[in-house]
Amino acid sequence: MNVGVRFGLILALLVFTSTATITLAAPRLSGPMPSPASGNHADLGAMLAQADAIKIVDLGQFTRLLDEIGARETELDGEQKSLFHFLRGWRATWVGDYGTGKAELDAVADTSSSNVLRARATATLINLLGIGHRYEEAFTRLTQLQDMLPSIRDRKARFQALGEASQMLSTAGQFDQAEAYAQQMMDNPPPGETICKGAQHLLRARREGGRLHTLDPIYQNAIDSCVGSGDEVFADAMRSDIAAFHVANGHPDEAVKILVANRDALRALHYPTTLAEFDGLLAQAYLKLGDLPNARRYGISALADSIQGEFTDPRRAAYEVLYQVEERLGNATAALSYHEQYMAADKAYLNDLSARSLAFQIVDQQLVARKAEVEALNKQNEILRLNGVLDRKEVETGRLYIFILGLCLLAIAWLVLWLRRSQMRFMKLARRDGLTGICNREHFVEQADRVLAYGARSDRGLCVILFDLDHFKNVNDTYGHAVGDEVLKRAVDVCHRALHACDVFGRLGGEEFAILLPDCSPAQARARAEQLRLSISATSATQARPELAVTASFGVSSTLQCGFELHRLLVVADAALYRAKRAGRNCVFMGDTGDIPDSPYLTEARG
Ligand code: GH3
Ligand code: MG
Ligand code: MG
Repeated sequence: MNVGVRFGLILALLVFTSTATITLAAPRLSGPMPSPASGNHADLGAMLAQADAIKIVDLGQFTRLLDEIGARETELDGEQKSLFHFLRGWRATWVGDYGTGKAELDAVADTSSSNVLRARATATLINLLGIGHRYEEAFTRLTQLQDMLPSIRDRKARFQALGEASQMLSTAGQFDQAEAYAQQMMDNPPPGETICKGAQHLLRARREGGRLHTLDPIYQNAIDSCVGSGDEVFADAMRSDIAAFHVANGHPDEAVKILVANRDALRALHYPTTLAEFDGLLAQAYLKLGDLPNARRYGISALADSIQGEFTDPRRAAYEVLYQVEERLGNATAALSYHEQYMAADKAYLNDLSARSLAFQIVDQQLVARKAEVEALNKQNEILRLNGVLDRKEVETGRLYIFILGLCLLAIAWLVLWLRRSQMRFMKLARRDGLTGICNREHFVEQADRVLAYGARSDRGLCVILFDLDHFKNVNDTYGHAVGDEVLKRAVDVCHRALHACDVFGRLGGEEFAILLPDCSPAQARARAEQLRLSISATSATQARPELAVTASFGVSSTLQCGFELHRLLVVADAALYRAKRAGRNCVFMGDTGDIPDSPYLTEARG
C-alpha cells in the first residue's frame, strides 16, 4: 500500500478529533424543560458527544461509553442512532476490524438523515477502502463526498471533507483538484483551525505531483501554526516533505538537520508511518553524504517502522539504500538480497500506484455514463408528463415540443451507447500492455489466480515460467529506446507462437514476462522454457539490425513444490531466474523452495 493512503487514514481520523464538537447533543441539551423521554435523549446525547470527543485520546473509555450506549440503543432517536453507528464504525476502523467498520459506516453514509454524519462516515469509509486497496469503491465514495460538499454548511465537517478529498485525489494523481481543495482549507479554516492542515495537504500534493519547485515561507508558517495548535503530526508530515525536497535538490545536509532535530519528539508520538518516512529520508540523505553506517542504521530502522508486508515508499527507499550500502562495502550476498527485495518493493509500489489511477479513471467514466442516463430518464419523464397534461388547444405546439424532446432523447441514448462502448474499450485497453499487446501485470495476476483456483479444485499441476531479457539495458543504451521496444515486441511474438491456447502470458514490467502453464509437469515446463530460450536466441532481434542478438534467462516453478498461490510461484520462479542470471544468463533454472527458506521475500505479497 502506498504510504499516502495509510497516512491519509490516520490523519483523517485525527481530524475527527477536532470535529468532535459537531455532534447532535449540544442543541438538544439547550432545549426547554425536558420531559422524561427527552431527558433520556439528552442524557444519551451527552454520552454520545463525550464519546465522540474522547475517541482518540482515550480508546478504553470511548469503548466503555459505546457499550453503555449500545445497551440502551432502543432509546436513541434517529440521528443519535446514526451517530452511534458512525462511532462504532469509526472504532472498528481504528482498531483494524475493517469488516465491521465498513458495514457500520456504509449504513450511516447511505441512510443517515444528517448530511454531516453522512459526510463523516463517507470520509472514514474512503480511508478504510484505501487501506484495503479497494480503490474503485474508494473513488466511488469520493465522488459522493464531492457531490455532498456544496450542501455541507457545517464548516468543520466541510473542512474535514475537503481534507479527505484532497488526500485521496493526490493518491489518484489528480493533483490540480487536490491542491484546489487544500487551498480552500487554508483560505477558510473553521474556528479552532489554522492554515496547518490545509498547508500540509497542499505541500504533500505539490511534492507528490512533482510541482514543488521552491519552498514557500508559508510552509514554515504553517509548521509553526501546527505546533501552536498541538497538531504535531501535521508539522512532522510537512517536515518530512521539506526534507524530501532537500534530498532531491542536492542538500542532504539540510534534510539531516531538520529530521534529526525532530525525530525524538516524533518517536514519542508513536506515529510509525511518519517515523518510517523520517528514517527512509535519513537513510537516503546519509548515503548521499557518504556516511554509510548511518545510512544503514536508518535504512534498517525504516524497515522496522514501516508496515510489514506492505510496499510503502519508505520501505522501497530503505531497500534501495541498504542495497547500495552493502554493495559499496563489498558485501555481495547482502547486496543481492536487498536488491531483490528492493525490486519486489518497487514493482509492487508502482503497481499499486497504477491500480489507483486506473480505478479513478474507471469511476470517472462510469460517472459520466450514469449522468447521461439520468438525463435520459428525466427527458422521458417530461414527455410522459406532457402527454398527460396537454389540453386540446395546446396539442399542436405540445406535439412539436414532444418531437424535439424525442430527438434529444435519441441523442442522449446514442451518447450513452457511445460511452458504454468507450468504457468497454477502455477496460480492454486497461488489461493489455500497451507495447506488446499481451496481458499487463494486473490482468495476468487476475487471470492466473482464476486458472490456479480451477487447477487447485481439479488437483491438476501447473507451472510458471518467468523470464527476463539479458543485458537489455545495453540494447537501449547502444541502439536507443525505439530499437529496445522493437526487441521486446519480437521476443513476445516469438513466445506467442510457441504458446498453447490455455497458457496465460503477461508482461510483469520492463523486460520481465511470466507464463502460467496449466496441466503441466515440471519436466514439461522445463522443456518448454528451454524451447522458448532457444527460439529467442535464434531469432534476430529486429529486422533492421540482424546482427543484434538477444537472449533471456528463465526461472521455472511448479504447484507441486509451491502450492496454488500465485505469489509463491512467482517468488520461487524469481529466485530461480536470479540464479540463472548469476550463472551467466541465457539458461533455464528450476525453482527450489529451499533456495530461500526464511526469505521475507516469500512472505511478502508479490502477486
Ligand atoms: P539483466 O541481464 O541483469 O536483466 O540486465 P538488464 O540490463 O536487462 O536489466 P536492468 O534491470 O538493468 O535493465 C532493464 C532495462 O529495461 C532498463 C529499462 O530502461 C529498460 N526498459 C524497461 N521497460 C522498457 C520498455 O518498455 N522499452 C524499452 N526500450 N526499455 C525498457
Ligand atoms: Mg534484464
Ligand atoms: Mg529486469
